[in-house]
Amino acid sequence: MKCINIYFRKYFLSFDMISTIKSYVQDFSHLFFPHHCEGCGTDILQHDELLCPKCSFELPETNFIHNANNPVEKIFYGRINIQHAAAAFYFTKDSVLQRLLVQLKYKSNQQAGIYLGKRLGEQLNVSERFNDVDAIIPLPLNPKKEFKRGYNQAKIICDGIVSVWNKPIIDDAVVRTHFTETQTHQDRIHRWQNMQSVFSISHPKVLKNKHILLIDDVITTGATLEACAAAILKISGTKLSIATVAYTI
Ligand SMILES: [Zn+2]
Repeated sequence: MKCINIYFRKYFLSFDMISTIKSYVQDFSHLFFPHHCEGCGTDILQHDELLCPKCSFELPETNFIHNANNPVEKIFYGRINIQHAAAAFYFTKDSVLQRLLVQLKYKSNQQAGIYLGKRLGEQLNVSERFNDVDAIIPLPLNPKKEFKRGYNQAKIICDGIVSVWNKPIIDDAVVRTHFTETQTHQDRIHRWQNMQSVFSISHPKVLKNKHILLIDDVITTGATLEACAAAILKISGTKLSIATVAYTI
């Protein structure tokens, strides 16, 4: 027995020592490679964290995920038959959230997308309304934009979501077919008609009879999400919900 005790004491001591050494190494590397909070710039944060606890806490949660008839659901009233819709945070100008979205979309910072996806996923994970979702789909990006950026930001957000919410991602069943760059020169009806033919389904069998949750970064008018949702809902037995990271007031 004594022998076992000594063995365990030895084991735990060495475990303590490893974590102490790890913390020294982190502090040391911090000295030469300073790591700053993406929100306020402070360098007082854990080694691999993106935001300090204060900025993290201050992201303005909407609570829409838990509430029916929330403003995001109202966007789609009379337009398309959805089960649920929600956004995780309110988007405001010059905010920490805006900085993270700029990092994700224009500064090749995929970690910002993983972080935001995680925060959205944590909310979805505790919401009973989204319990029966079978799979999540990132809203396909205009292929020209995706080529330029190197990735689809909605897919990165999905990666963050599934790291905390146990759902599969399906990202090859819906295809964005047309470029829509010239939309600004068209009138509203032509733009709407054009948008309706932008999305096509390449693997309908994968989506059949499933409840799909469509994911994007920000929701404004909801026109693109609506067009993609309409294409998915043409497959028999599908149900559709929508979730985004941010909602613009
Ligand atoms: Zn901060």
